[in-house]
Amino acid sequence: MGPLLILSSAFLISFGGQFLLRGLAQRLRLRRRGAEALFGLSLSIGIAVPLWLHSADHPETRALLWILLAAFVAGTLADLLRLSRWTQLLLGIGIAFWATREGFLIHELKPPFFLHFVELGRWSAVATITWILAVAGAVILCRRLPGLTSGLVAIVSLGFFAVAQIVFGTHSYLTAPLACGIAGAALGAFPHELFLGFPFVSAGARQNQNEAHEPWMPLSQGAAGHWVMGFALGLLTVVGFLKNTAFLLLAAPLLLLGVPLVEATYAFVYGGAQKRLSFSLGRRRELLHEALLRGGLSPRRCVAVFLAITLYFTGVAILLAAMVRVTFVAKLAVLGAFAVAGFIIFYCAARILSRLQRAGVKTAERIEFLDVPVATLDMGGALAKIDAYVKARSPHMVVTSDSSAIVRAHKDEELAAIMKAADLVTADGAGIVWMAKVLGLPVEQRVSGVDLIEKVCEQAAERGWSLYLLGAEPGVVNEAAKRLNLRYPGLQIVGCMHGYFSAEEEPQVVADIAERHPDVLLVGLGIPRQEKWIAHHLQELGVPVAIGVGGSFDVISSRLKRAPKWMQAAGLEWLYRTLQQPTRLPRLFSLPQLLSMTLKAALKRRKE
Ligand code: UDP
Repeated sequence: MGPLLILSSAFLISFGGQFLLRGLAQRLRLRRRGAEALFGLSLSIGIAVPLWLHSADHPETRALLWILLAAFVAGTLADLLRLSRWTQLLLGIGIAFWATREGFLIHELKPPFFLHFVELGRWSAVATITWILAVAGAVILCRRLPGLTSGLVAIVSLGFFAVAQIVFGTHSYLTAPLACGIAGAALGAFPHELFLGFPFVSAGARQNQNEAHEPWMPLSQGAAGHWVMGFALGLLTVVGFLKNTAFLLLAAPLLLLGVPLVEATYAFVYGGAQKRLSFSLGRRRELLHEALLRGGLSPRRCVAVFLAITLYFTGVAILLAAMVRVTFVAKLAVLGAFAVAGFIIFYCAARILSRLQRAGVKTAERIEFLDVPVATLDMGGALAKIDAYVKARSPHMVVTSDSSAIVRAHKDEELAAIMKAADLVTADGAGIVWMAKVLGLPVEQRVSGVDLIEKVCEQAAERGWSLYLLGAEPGVVNEAAKRLNLRYPGLQIVGCMHGYFSAEEEPQVVADIAERHPDVLLVGLGIPRQEKWIAHHLQELGVPVAIGVGGSFDVISSRLKRAPKWMQAAGLEWLYRTLQQPTRLPRLFSLPQLLSMTLKAALKRRKE
């Protein structure tokens, strides 16, 4: 059987088997633990049958299948009898010891910086047992998040398959089929674990189960399935070790298993730092995913983050495998660069994805985001503010600030002072919302200039406010006014003026606005000119609300097209605008600048 056939048959058996066994469990009215054992069974059969068909005549395959059966039995017993962690560890040692007796051994290692292989000699069995236990333990740990174990095992074993193909070619007769069998079975279990759950468990039982553990720990695949996946992966790495050659001996398996090991390491390091350093198995330490969940990440998003990291590590490992002839230093450099980039991506992604836990907690109306007081309000809140300003009649200034404005404010003292003094600064840009989340600041929603104009016009038409439009090219602002009038019947636009007036004409423009007494003045001269202009003339103008709206008139008049909805939702509007106006390209540099400013601020906060 070829690898692809093994992969697909393992998938079909595991995926279909879960459905059949679900029916059986329902019919037998099995309790949760019994049902979970059945789920583990279909996964194990998914791995075993294709391998059996592939090479049942080979003693190594047969030994491997017996060992996996032992892992299944041990996992079932561990779950059904609620064995203590020490007993589970003893069972695990027993299985790993048996594997070494059957010839699954790491004989030699080639550590980095060593020219030659180091013969492990009589330490070979101890090293192998420790390694298998570490891998299996790390995989079993991941069961706390439903979907994580199977997703992770699938990605990792596919990564091993790719590495094996690159490094060993056809020499490894067991690595490729075993990797495909594990990957297929895990892929088959993944949707069940993540989406389908256990519908036959009554809601009451589900609730009890949840109450008995942490609230986020729903029903999962079952210990048996996790034990099989863990030991299968452990054995797969050992099979790889036997034929392996160079640096990858250590790097590939470690990288591929980065995530569970990171989780275990985090538990150790973090738990140790927080409490007392302790090696006690019985002690519960906070795991990385628990820290993320506590930070407000939903379990599914947490799984998505972990799987993304695993994919990232797998990619690095495959890259290293492909670079097998490159010097060690070059590999180390690539690894270092990837590690830094990966850390930044992971850190930002985890923070961005987290829902800030503020249910019932009243947050401040504005936060200090990189020294600029940005409002935490959503669109409704911003409109309420503008309504209050109009009623108050005294002059107010609103800034719709994108990333480039924040970056500019750090270089331009006048702009910084204006933004600090403004009555309302909204986050007009996905970059600000993301970066604020990285800093743990509660900026919930983007309030862009274009959207704000639409809403203000809607409200103005209802409440009888009058508007004055200033900015953009001569034809453009009139066209924008015309379209707004059509869209919001009853809207009073008391004046329109393009934004290309000279310094001599300026007093006339100011006087014209002041004479017409608009309730709201929209100024589209671009950042920072519009902010400086408004700040300079606000008292003279006497308008209750002046809002800087950038290039919004170009969009409203349809001179420029607005990005499609999906791009807006994905926070990619800047990309669309740059494609339309390549002259905006230099502005894109504000994004990396904003990221670096944010990370610096995050590090500073950590220290404080
Ligand atoms: N603009 C203007 N007078 C000027 C320079 C620019 O009215 O002297 C207008 C320009 O036509 C455009 C807007 O200001 O409508 C600037 O848009 P941009 O997209 O550059 O600004 P942003 O939205 O990024 O602040």
